[in-house]
Amino acid sequence: MKMEYVDLRDEYDIKEGIKKAAGIIKKGGLVAFPTETVYGLGANGLDENAVPKIYEAKGRPSDNPLILHISEFDEIKSIVKEIPKTALILAEEFWPGPLTMVLKKSDIVPFRTTGGLESVAVRMPSNNIARELIKASGVPIAAPSANSSGRPSPTKASHVILDLDGKIDMVIDGGAVDIGLESTIVDVTGDVPVILRPGFITEEMLSEAIGRVEIDEVVKSLSPDKDLKPKAPGMKYRHYAPKGRMTIYKGKPERVVERINEEIAKSAGKKTAVLATDETKMYYKADVVISVGSREDGESIARNLFDALRRFDDVGAEVIFAEGFDENRLGFAIMNRLHKSAGYNIIMIKE
Ligand code: AMP
Ligand code: MG
Repeated sequence: MKMEYVDLRDEYDIKEGIKKAAGIIKKGGLVAFPTETVYGLGANGLDENAVPKIYEAKGRPSDNPLILHISEFDEIKSIVKEIPKTALILAEEFWPGPLTMVLKKSDIVPFRTTGGLESVAVRMPSNNIARELIKASGVPIAAPSANSSGRPSPTKASHVILDLDGKIDMVIDGGAVDIGLESTIVDVTGDVPVILRPGFITEEMLSEAIGRVEIDEVVKSLSPDKDLKPKAPGMKYRHYAPKGRMTIYKGKPERVVERINEEIAKSAGKKTAVLATDETKMYYKADVVISVGSREDGESIARNLFDALRRFDDVGAEVIFAEGFDENRLGFAIMNRLHKSAGYNIIMIKE
């Protein structure tokens, strides 16, 4: 399949490009497009024949449900059974934006979209290209991240092209994304809302709007517990993983630098790489050192993380040492993704 590339980065008038893309969605095809979180791979979420193409292109396990994207609040009404008060408050507060809510699905949502579940995940993105595409398509767009399953999520069109060229109909280039981590997922079907996946919208922000919020046990635990099953099926898969073996080192920055340099010295003959920060990058003796940004600026770390993980593959890194981060606020989502990339391989360095 020949993939069409549409560049809307500097376009003042995006109508033509959007019209073409919407035509593909309406006909049951696949379009990758930017959102504020990561690039999504979209299809008509209500079309039972279109949705399986997403799974095929990504190599995604079929029990891993998709998020339906809408452009206006009213569009939610036909795809869910009921809208609990919590959902109304959260939508008012955080939509459009990087928050996904899990609700009871209506009959028009195919089980192929929800991985067989009676619930459906819904989000209204804030990215202009995403919103216009959904509006022009006239249907909720099912869109998981536009990467090959297991690879780091795409934060630039070039990442999508590397993973999916030849497997999808079109990619819309909207430049690098703003946030860089996938949306926060909150299940609002029960009495107390539960965070199934941490993201840019933190527990604190949610609690401020709706009071008590719980976090899915699996997300809280630092090591994968075989007896616990995550409520978001996708959270159980190995994810975001570079090809090299990655280990996270957590502790005081000076001690982490010291320890990683010791490990580098022991890795002679292997291509070594470090996921560092602006504060420490100059101290490492590895073959490749990539900074994800300053520790003072969590948002830039979130934005750069997946691109950095992909660059380790580009340079053929065999052993990767990553600095850990504090798990408060946005740091919780950053560490959630890092843990998965490292296959929960983490070393705590004592004082
Ligand atoms: P992605 O779009 O690639 O970020 O993946 C979507 C995430 O949403 C996966 O982790 C899914 O397991 C999760 N998800 C989608 N629908 C549901 C649902 N109905 N219930 C729980 N989790 C869901
Ligand atoms: Mg994904």
